[in-house]
Amino acid sequence: MQHVEQLDQRDPLRHLRGAFHLPEGIIYLDGNSLGPLPRDVSARTQRVVAEEWGQSLIKGWNDHDWIGLPQRVGNKIARLIGAPGGTVIAADSTSLNLLKVLSAALSLRPERKIILSDTGNFPTDLYMAQGISSTLGADHELKLVAPEMAVDAIDDTVAVLMLTEVDYRTGRKHDMAALTRRAHQAGVLTIWDLAHSAGAVPVDLTSAQADFAIGCGYKYLNGGPGAPAFVYVRPDHLNSFAPSLSGWMGHAAPFDFDLTYKPAKGIDRMLVGTPTILSMSALDSALDLWRDISMEDVRQKSLAMTDMFIAEVAKRCTDQGLELLTPREHELRGSQVSFSCPNGYAVMQALIAEGVIGDFRSPDIIRFGFTPLYLRYADVITAAETLARVLQEQLWDRPQFLERAKVT
Ligand SMILES: *Cc1c(COP(=O)(O)O)cnc(C)c1O
Repeated sequence: MQHVEQLDQRDPLRHLRGAFHLPEGIIYLDGNSLGPLPRDVSARTQRVVAEEWGQSLIKGWNDHDWIGLPQRVGNKIARLIGAPGGTVIAADSTSLNLLKVLSAALSLRPERKIILSDTGNFPTDLYMAQGISSTLGADHELKLVAPEMAVDAIDDTVAVLMLTEVDYRTGRKHDMAALTRRAHQAGVLTIWDLAHSAGAVPVDLTSAQADFAIGCGYKYLNGGPGAPAFVYVRPDHLNSFAPSLSGWMGHAAPFDFDLTYKPAKGIDRMLVGTPTILSMSALDSALDLWRDISMEDVRQKSLAMTDMFIAEVAKRCTDQGLELLTPREHELRGSQVSFSCPNGYAVMQALIAEGVIGDFRSPDIIRFGFTPLYLRYADVITAAETLARVLQEQLWDRPQFLERAKVT
């Protein structure tokens, strides 16, 4: 215990916990699904509603530069994912942004028909890819392989390699640079979904030479429920495709009200409709937290915490049927720990009732996200102790924990 207190005292990120509103008595291990509320976001949101919208009305677009918010937010995210300024924009949802970059990538490889992905990808990414064939009226085929087989499935029939870097269920992390290199050797373009990477692990899109990337604003970036997502396009592709979602905000001159679509130069062409200023302001404010944070510090603490949780659970929860799904090797791990667990849904509900919030993923996975900005090492120990108690005392075996809610 002494040891844990020392770790918390020496933690270079410990001052950041106070920047979040965290409900009393809760250990929050679900920041990988919905980040908690940064305190400054409350004030900013109130100001945008009451002063900017309330007082400025339509003038707000110019007076408060609402119109430039997608670019400003995009540039803040760019710094976290190794992207140059002017290559990332905040817009829409991750699902829609996937459609935008996938259609762009496919248009750059018109002679190839295969979209390659893996079975660890998040379903919405796969659903969007399945739907794109009919949207584009071309006969594209989505080919799925096991995550460890992805590298060998790359060949010159593939148009696009579309992967999520960190697996939402297991926390297994792909080697983005190596897979991108292999893809490029075969003339394949790459799309990386950074939903569980941005703000969680160091990402360097530039050195990996990734072609396109997308990601989420409400997970590790703490932008609030349904926050806008982001999209990255490598600089040399920026002006080389015609957007499939050709809305007026992506037009070269939206306020000319031309009758014909002409894409804006650069990343702006990834915009579609009017930006969601209230939620984008919240994300903009949440991103200010990252101004002086080193992603290396975040990574180091994340690995130390996930190592500690794996070890503590192994020590305390023997013979409970738990099976670690997350790789032990650091270079293969994101920032979460997952177990397959008999009665996993009920176990997680009981754990939440005991004040440790993680989540459950079908069929039997209990998942714990470790977010170094506001978690303490002491929380890691308490979480493992609580899980052990829930299992040993069978606290999960109660009717109220067995009934599934709509959102798990
Ligand atoms: C969370 C997540 C999404 C979510 O997409 P939305 O459009 O925001 O609902 C997409 N892809 C991955 C990999 C995710 O983890």
